Amino acid sequence: MNKYNIAIDGPSGAGKSTVARLLAEKLGIVYLDTGALYRTVGLKAKREGWREDDAEVVRRLADTRIEAKFVGGIQRMYLDGEDVTDVIRTGDVSDYGSRFGTLPGVRAALLGLQRAAAQENSSVLDGRDIGTCVLPEAKYKFYLTASVDTRARRRYDELVGKGQDVSFEKVRTDILARDERDMTRKIAPLKKADDAIEINSDDMTAAEVAERMISFIER
Ligand code: C5P
Repeated sequence: MNKYNIAIDGPSGAGKSTVARLLAEKLGIVYLDTGALYRTVGLKAKREGWREDDAEVVRRLADTRIEAKFVGGIQRMYLDGEDVTDVIRTGDVSDYGSRFGTLPGVRAALLGLQRAAAQENSSVLDGRDIGTCVLPEAKYKFYLTASVDTRARRRYDELVGKGQDVSFEKVRTDILARDERDMTRKIAPLKKADDAIEINSDDMTAAEVAERMISFIER
């Protein structure tokens, strides 16, 4: 079969990454978590105290190496040669990723990386602007949503499961702030592509969502 791509977009906590992983496993294709790229930029910005200024960030990025490598089918993230796969999942790194992800220079720098990965292999990419900007020609597009409370509950359970000390209210407030920023930024805001199939995962498990997507794909 020719190479093909699947785009899954949606707000934080809608279940995109779990579903994308299941889909990739079932279909025997690669899964690229694009949020991890933004988190990796966010990590460097946090560590070095970058200002949220596009020209400055573009200069800094010229000196930064961001790589996604696949080890046994699992994506690992490298920042200037250091494996940061786990550290980008901690604390407020995602918030830095979200804030720096509003800058045009950051989006432009990560666009080529995402497209190159998608061209190399049949793949599932999940993110915010895959169906609209990164891969507008993707063969299959899905927009995965869920209510704020469901999404906050999932994120909270995930963080607590990793032993992090967070309150549900804080997780919910952060999700709302992230939704607002992702949906209103000037470049590549989060929105459903016109030709994407929308699925609400409020009352569905990740496995059920993946099954539904596969039934669309097979159709
Ligand atoms: O999906 P995840 O929560 O890991 O993404 C971290 C942040 O990176 C998101 O809140 C979003 O602001 C940003 N992001 C983006 N475009 C993508 C993926 C993530 O702007 N394609």
